[in-house]
Amino acid sequence: MISRIIEQSSVAQIQAHIDENERFVIVSHVGPDGDAIGSALAMRHFLKTLNKQPVVVVPNAYPSFLKWMPAADEILVYENNKELADKQLAKADVIFIMDLNERRRMNILANAVVDDAPAPKIMIDHHPQPDTFAKIIVSHPEIASTGELVFRLLWQMGKLSDINIACAECIYTGMMTDTGGFSYNSNSADIYHIVSMLISIGIDKDDIYRKVYNNYSENRIRLTGYATYRKMKLYPEYHTALIWLTRRELEQFNYVSGDAEGLVNLPMSIEGVIFSVFMREESDKIRLSFRSQGSFPCNQYAQKVFRGGGHLNASGGESYSGIKKTILKFENSLPKYAELLKQSI
Ligand code: 5GP
Ligand code: MN
Repeated sequence: MISRIIEQSSVAQIQAHIDENERFVIVSHVGPDGDAIGSALAMRHFLKTLNKQPVVVVPNAYPSFLKWMPAADEILVYENNKELADKQLAKADVIFIMDLNERRRMNILANAVVDDAPAPKIMIDHHPQPDTFAKIIVSHPEIASTGELVFRLLWQMGKLSDINIACAECIYTGMMTDTGGFSYNSNSADIYHIVSMLISIGIDKDDIYRKVYNNYSENRIRLTGYATYRKMKLYPEYHTALIWLTRRELEQFNYVSGDAEGLVNLPMSIEGVIFSVFMREESDKIRLSFRSQGSFPCNQYAQKVFRGGGHLNASGGESYSGIKKTILKFENSLPKYAELLKQSI
């Protein structure tokens, strides 16, 4: 038996919003990952089994290794389908906001959702310090994935029997990807009770693993090799590693969205490395990813140094000052964190 962590009053309010309405738009964050797509599609499948009309909208493209997910082909990518998505948002009765805590994580979709769409918003998320624009906020930073929160919500609603295989697969994908295949943030016994229930529903967890992690393009593997061989710098005195890739390098490997996902995790398997940083040059900015092991708070680091945020062991941020200056800023910041990094090892 798992514990009931979502306030029952929120569960009842969400239940009432579902019962009393027909049209639902489900949105998630820019650069959608397995948990963003997984939790949004899980909600979509659940609503569909209740004969509701759900539509998933994300700001930009999701990686190709998520294309197998049931109903992924129906997702509206705002960048390519703004008109249709705006129409859906305008006539929505309720908008679910999945796996994101701040309006800016919706990027080009933020105004249309927060300012223009009149529907009440329900946020289901696990990032700390949620914005307050949603009418109902289910925020649990202690939970490893939004996929898990979707399961908990449906379970607390007494709707276990309405979770079909498609919904269960999407929940599992969120849970698996946000814990690196259950290798971090995954010490809670409840996670495995939930996995056990999802297997009973009929998911093939080994098959999901293969579809997500053994489904990369040749370019992606070669880019990974190049990045670790040529572009990884270690800072042993700070237990830190950096990988950075410029736009030119990405183009050489025919980079498509998602190809660099997970690169930031690789240096963590080097003995002694507890803080890993990845920088990817985009047309107008540098995207940064941070990962840590143990108690080093890479969300605080992201917030203080690069105006970002996220979780204790996984966070992100942005920089607008070019790759060289960004690397310099990062290197100059390390001495300030030397003590904290040492304590965390
Ligand atoms: P990733 O490195 O995979 O892009 O992001 C890691 C984690 O940090 C994710 O959970 C993501 O939601 C969060 N994150 C990434 N960038 C930002 C950011 O700029 N602000 C905040 N608040 N969280 C972020
Ligand atoms: Mn997540």
